Amino acid sequence: MGTSFTLKEARSWINTAAADIEKNSSLLGDLDAAIGDGDHGDNMARGFTAVVKKLDTGSFAELGALFKTVGMTLLSTVGGAAGPLYGGFFLTLGKQSAGKTELDTPGLATALEAGVQDIKHRGKAVLGDKTMVDALTPALAAFKSSGDSLPAATRAAAETAADAAEKTSPLLARKGRASYLGERSIGHKDPGAASSAILLQALAKVCARA
Ligand code: ADP
Ligand code: MG
Repeated sequence: MGTSFTLKEARSWINTAAADIEKNSSLLGDLDAAIGDGDHGDNMARGFTAVVKKLDTGSFAELGALFKTVGMTLLSTVGGAAGPLYGGFFLTLGKQSAGKTELDTPGLATALEAGVQDIKHRGKAVLGDKTMVDALTPALAAFKSSGDSLPAATRAAAETAADAAEKTSPLLARKGRASYLGERSIGHKDPGAASSAILLQALAKVCARA
């Protein structure tokens, strides 16, 4: 049973992500304080709190409408650099899943890939620039190469993202506020890479039960 990603998993993903972001908001804030302006945890917590409220009061007949609501809400509440990037990511997931009530594992991979592409286009960051792209790109590759099992693919993505987020520490930031620090950005983990790993960890937790 349950080898596909349905409306139920989508809702649980977002609710779990919101709880995990809330739990880790001061950690994300501390990471951002080291190389940015310290608002990443608050930004993300504010956005996901608003998203949970929207989902609780809305009913969604298909994945496209649900993810569109997530994206629009993040766009209008998160702010900073991350708001438009994560907002665009979820809007793209919505476009990819429009009219669908479920996605199989390759279908979810395709949707996530389009979402990561949207982040890359909007932010113009490439691999190694010390951004969320550095967590998401290898995570997506791990997802795609791990076969048709949804629990296995999402676990591979989550583990790879966590590892890749750690590996942003020695990098020099070339995008966003952290890039203003130049060499002084070296030695600190990127907050957006950390929040991306949290989002994928939440996805894996939900899909482990799927
Ligand atoms: P701000 O930098 O405006 O305060 P946040 O603190 O919410 O916004 O988000 C910072 C994170 O956004 C960074 O850690 C980085 O991962 C991500 N980021 C910033 N600029 C870009 C970009 N151009 N492309 C991809 N990600 C980016
Ligand atoms: Mg910030």
